Amino acid sequence: MEKVIAINSGSSSLKFKLFMMPTEEVIASGKIERIGIQDSNIDIKYGLGRRYQATMEIANYKIAVAILMEMLIKLEIIRDYMEIDGVGHRVVAGGEYFKQSVIVDDEVVAKIAKIADLAPLHNPANLIGIKAFREALPYACSVAVFDTSFHQTMPAVNYVYSTPYEWYEKLGIRRYGAHGTSHRYVIKEAANLLNRPLEKLKLISCHLGAGASICAVKNGKSYNTSMGFTPLAGVTMATRSGDIDVSAVAYAMNQLNITSINDILDILNKKSGLLGISGVSSDSRDVSVAAKNGNERAQLAMDIFERTVLDYIGQYIAEMGGVDGIIFTAGIGENSSSVRARIVEKLAYMGIELDVQENNKRGINNIISTPNSNVTVMRVMTDEELMIARDVVNLKKQQ
Ligand code: AMP
Repeated sequence: MEKVIAINSGSSSLKFKLFMMPTEEVIASGKIERIGIQDSNIDIKYGLGRRYQATMEIANYKIAVAILMEMLIKLEIIRDYMEIDGVGHRVVAGGEYFKQSVIVDDEVVAKIAKIADLAPLHNPANLIGIKAFREALPYACSVAVFDTSFHQTMPAVNYVYSTPYEWYEKLGIRRYGAHGTSHRYVIKEAANLLNRPLEKLKLISCHLGAGASICAVKNGKSYNTSMGFTPLAGVTMATRSGDIDVSAVAYAMNQLNITSINDILDILNKKSGLLGISGVSSDSRDVSVAAKNGNERAQLAMDIFERTVLDYIGQYIAEMGGVDGIIFTAGIGENSSSVRARIVEKLAYMGIELDVQENNKRGINNIISTPNSNVTVMRVMTDEELMIARDVVNLKKQQ
């Protein structure tokens, strides 16, 4: 038995889940927020329904890690730092360097730093996390798990953009995708639900959360995905625009007198999507309620979101020459029976049939299509942290 901690570091937050492996039992989970900002919060869930919450000053990430470790001991979650055998870090962009998860050494740290431009908001924060934990837990095996690596199996026809080829060769501009850890987790669960080998399946995984991406998975490998060079592309998201004609962006810059690329990217990343269209909220629950109450823009926002998801499902069915299973996961995909129903009902023409009763169940992995349906539709609860912990255990074994 070993203890493995999965870490998701943001620019001012640290989220963690501590697992006992290989049983995969969650011993503790929680987050520290507002690191480096006044009134930092710490919130740890552990034991049978126990919880520790506090507000304190946490000046930087290194101190946050030290406080977290101290609290794990104080709350008697662990007795000694040495009990933690492995630390797995979510890293957003792995570029073309990282085709799978890797044990972190100085060379890996240097490469992650080198491709920071591919995820300027995330990779530097992820690196700070890696460095702080390597210092705090020098004996633990440190592993980097990349959101992009699952998509490194995509064929060139699906990742090269129709721009001058030198952009790809010299600048590394291509589709990298994201959410790979989630897609990788849910396809395994889907193969279990289908009781068929993953290597023989054509699947479409719809990760629908605040960030959303669709992935075509052929024989267990990513074949195509909706996110692009960055997670801005693809379907309509909570605040991200998804796909857009870049000429419209240039025109908007001219018309609105926006001279900075960062300012326009900020609008496309943070003020678009469900929020931008509806003007109500970035949370699909709020947008849905507003739509039900007759807000037309809110209704339009939900319609566009669902239409963009459907676009990719249709595209990927055609590209893979069929599909055996469609998976819904993440905040909206797992919880919104109405979003799932509206998307699946649009696929009725190809013999896909929703089982309304199964679709209305909550909080479980299940098949939500009828036995007669030509394609099996599933709801799967994603668990990126568990996937990270599994990768740590597997890489440790190979050490
Ligand atoms: P995620 O990024 O995976 O945490 O997903 C966040 C999104 O999931 C939020 O924007 C919510 O709109 C959506 N969500 C969470 N819970 C529910 C729920 N019970 N019903 C519908 N949508 C939900």
